[in-house]
Amino acid sequence: MLTIVLFGPPGAGKGTQAVRLAEKYKLMHLSTGDIFRANIKGGTELGKLAKSYMDKGDLVPDEVTIKMLESEVNRSSNAQCFIFDGFPRTTAQAQTLDTFLAGKNISITLTLALEVDEEELTRRIILRGKESGRADDQDENIVRNRVKEYNNKTAPLKDFYSKQGKLKNIPGVGSIDDIFEKLCFEIDKMKE
Ligand code: ADP
Repeated sequence: MLTIVLFGPPGAGKGTQAVRLAEKYKLMHLSTGDIFRANIKGGTELGKLAKSYMDKGDLVPDEVTIKMLESEVNRSSNAQCFIFDGFPRTTAQAQTLDTFLAGKNISITLTLALEVDEEELTRRIILRGKESGRADDQDENIVRNRVKEYNNKTAPLKDFYSKQGKLKNIPGVGSIDDIFEKLCFEIDKMKE
């Protein structure tokens, strides 16, 4: 059974690669960013709350994010294999995820960390903002704050997974196909 965490700073290409990996390895794809955006679109209470943080480029509080993620996993009760995209983003989220999955006899197989330098990230995000209209991608101050949040709260998770022997760093520059191939190589190696 395969469960992957796709890890990396905003704009690293997690979403693009997660969709492809989910298809190839038959994984249930859960993106916390996508779920929050769907809630915002639907005008739910959760969406309103999440929006107040996302608009500033801040992380949504752990308790809100964790509760939402757990209910999404529980909703897909048939799935045993997941790809988490944009989750966990804090040590508390990672610890809770381990415990929660253990209760379902699932464990994380591999954490794949996409590495892209800050200049390239900002360039990609601003471009994406122009194309998608995503509000948090269009304002340079918000983008900068998201990168700051990543460096402060999310990057330390590399240590967390490295200590568990589960971390693989993958260069996130090059063509989408090349990066995909590198990710698949690591997954296939792990599955053998
Ligand atoms: P990106 O990776 O480009 O930042 P996402 O769609 O993954 O885009 O996330 C958008 C925003 O959603 C984040 O800036 C944050 O406010 C919120 N968010 C997503 N996932 C989480 C999480 N696991 N914990 C807290 N906030 C989150």
